[in-house]
Amino acid sequence: MMSMHRARTATVKRAAEIDRMRAAGAILVDILEVLKAEIRPGISTGDLDEIAARMIRDAGAISSFKGYGSNPPFPGVICASVNDEVVHGIPSPRRRLADGDLVSIDIGCIVDGWHADCARTWAVGSVPREVSDLVDATRRGMEAGIAAATPGNRLGDVGHAIESVAHEHGYGIVRPFVGHGIGRAMHEEPQVPNYGRPGTGMLIEAGMCFAIEPMFNLGGDEVVVSDDGWTVRTADGAVSAHYENTIAVTDAGGPELLTVPQ
Ligand code: MG
Repeated sequence: MMSMHRARTATVKRAAEIDRMRAAGAILVDILEVLKAEIRPGISTGDLDEIAARMIRDAGAISSFKGYGSNPPFPGVICASVNDEVVHGIPSPRRRLADGDLVSIDIGCIVDGWHADCARTWAVGSVPREVSDLVDATRRGMEAGIAAATPGNRLGDVGHAIESVAHEHGYGIVRPFVGHGIGRAMHEEPQVPNYGRPGTGMLIEAGMCFAIEPMFNLGGDEVVVSDDGWTVRTADGAVSAHYENTIAVTDAGGPELLTVPQ
């Protein structure tokens, strides 16, 4: 899930705080591993949400998403966005996946008051080569953005790194929805756009934590929000992919992924 708020500075987290975010991140990747194995034609996004809700509860964590916002409050613990849905798809027992679909699953949870946020995109059965290429490029865009999140760089460097991967392939880049600072709240300052000019924007420091989450479209940049108040779709109906990891900026050794197995 991502924010639409204004860009300000990020807070620097202490090691013990990052430890809790890492614990939250480990729960998320465990759940995503299970969901990935469950993805098949016929399963509903509501089924996936039930599995994720049970796993969050069993881990002693709290969903970051369920009840979030007021347009209306988000009803699931995952966002499940299929094909031309970009992000914030509402999971439903009526939404059954079919062979050839592309599904993005976004999930967040809280451990001892600290959040992690993570998304992956998977094919259901077989998809055309151009769709699997889009997924691969979106993951590489995320990785390029993460690699640029080093002390002394600026947020514009992160956005530029992400945008450059999309431009190599001519993919659309979603601009109204962006990555974000994360910690005691799911959405903290600043916003982390998936585009930018090198050397501009907030200076990055060790101890800052970000959710870096590009959304690339097989068509144009434009997106629309559906009548349900949440589901974001591509305006041209083209397929979209989304990848997200939560990271901590470190002094040495590169950014640390917090959404990894523990
Ligand atoms: Mg997010």
